Amino acid sequence: MSASSLPLPDARQRFRRRLLTWYRANGRDLPWRQTSDPYHILVSEVMLQQTQVDRVLPKYHEWLAKYPSLEALATAPERDVAETWRPLGYNIRPRRLQSIARESVEKYNGQLPSDEETLLSFKGIGAYTAGAIRSFAFRQRAAILDTNVARVLFRIFVARGDLKAHATRRHLWAVSEVMVPRKEVFDFNQALMDFGAMICVARKPKCDVCPMTKLCRSYPGAERSLKK
Ligand code: SF4
Repeated sequence: MSASSLPLPDARQRFRRRLLTWYRANGRDLPWRQTSDPYHILVSEVMLQQTQVDRVLPKYHEWLAKYPSLEALATAPERDVAETWRPLGYNIRPRRLQSIARESVEKYNGQLPSDEETLLSFKGIGAYTAGAIRSFAFRQRAAILDTNVARVLFRIFVARGDLKAHATRRHLWAVSEVMVPRKEVFDFNQALMDFGAMICVARKPKCDVCPMTKLCRSYPGAERSLKK
């Protein structure tokens, strides 16, 4: 896969338009979409990494009531932090959050930085989380690629080969990067995530109500390509 296999400008425009239209009518109303506080975005993203939205919602509110800032989290007793996280599981996550909070307090005056390189220097912030913080909190033109977004972009623009292969993953990052619009980055990336969670789901994608059928390389052969 090369740059020449990236979607052409016309396909990019059509994809963006359809996705944003669909999102305005169907997007979920979630509390982390009502904020641009980088810490709140970080908490929501780390919680959502391995946990469903409905389980994250009450914990997100409880967490922010207890630790309203990076500074509050940085100075909280570790045992309390682990206890508050329960029962979300994957308990490395609260430890990582607290270590990010401590580093932010020590080096960045209790704030999360906005540039990609510095964000990636934190242990626990990878390419996806950095893209989410930059696009959702700082409204920068930054791409995201998690499992859901990778699946959506793969089905629509690739549909051949192994979704999990390193080269495919790299290509999908490039696709996500060319897709991000100059404006409405926040809505666009949120829409990608909702679309993967609600329409182009892992099992039994809802092709019959999908607005992307004319663009999608996996339609109508979705069944065949999804078995790969
Ligand atoms: Fe996904 Fe089906 Fe829509 Fe293609 S047509 S994007 S496979 S839901």
